[in-house]
Amino acid sequence: MESRGLFLGILARELKGMDTVVGYSDVQLRTQLATTTRILHEHGILDYSGHISARAPGRDALFVQQRTDPRSGVAPEGILLVDFNGNVLEGAPGKPPSETEIHIQILKARPDVNSVIHSHLEMAVLFSMMKNTPIQPIRVRATRWKTGVPVHQDPSHIKATDQGVSLAKTLANHNAALIRGHGMVLVAESVPALMIDCIHFDENAKAYLAILNSGREAVPLTEQDVYAIEGRELREHHIGKLWKYYVQNGRESGLLPKDWKAA
Ligand SMILES: [Zn+2]
Repeated sequence: MESRGLFLGILARELKGMDTVVGYSDVQLRTQLATTTRILHEHGILDYSGHISARAPGRDALFVQQRTDPRSGVAPEGILLVDFNGNVLEGAPGKPPSETEIHIQILKARPDVNSVIHSHLEMAVLFSMMKNTPIQPIRVRATRWKTGVPVHQDPSHIKATDQGVSLAKTLANHNAALIRGHGMVLVAESVPALMIDCIHFDENAKAYLAILNSGREAVPLTEQDVYAIEGRELREHHIGKLWKYYVQNGRESGLLPKDWKAA
């Protein structure tokens, strides 16, 4: 109840026009995170584990869900604000996920990234364990991973700062990385963009696996394909269209409360 009171306080402050930065406000980011978490849980991209973060604009901090909150029921008022030292600034005594260092170190290393997901997605775990079989971009929406999907070789849970730094180094300037036998990270410029990327990442991996299973040879996107696709790409339009589709479906099915308007 205390966190709900805090959330309503923040909401009231934002409605007065304070603390709203260029881009998304804190309330919008909290709502986007809750929305995306519920939708990706519905899709099997998150399960009993996995979490998404959003960079808190203008601060060395991030928004993230609480450690043990079921992904199917994450709500804006339960989201924590955590600084880059792991201290909870808003939402205490709630605890952030045990692998929050993943988010902190990637957000620190990648100023172009505003949202990170860590998930134990089945497709990611599977490809992370295959020898010499990197995920190839074969579907048209897979150009996001044209530079490759590196595999972080240490399968451990990432709980210490140096582990987070090491994973951020593996990710480098790519938009996805696998963690061997464990899961993946994906990064994007916003929470809605990250949600749509997750759906396309899963689609591409499933298609590639189906080809491998058929015994046929896959035809990955070539450099020329990527050049042509990106030349005609309307990323913002595409993200907006799919966001609307999934949010509307979520409202109709009851997955998302209808009064979550800030997203
Ligand atoms: Zn994990």
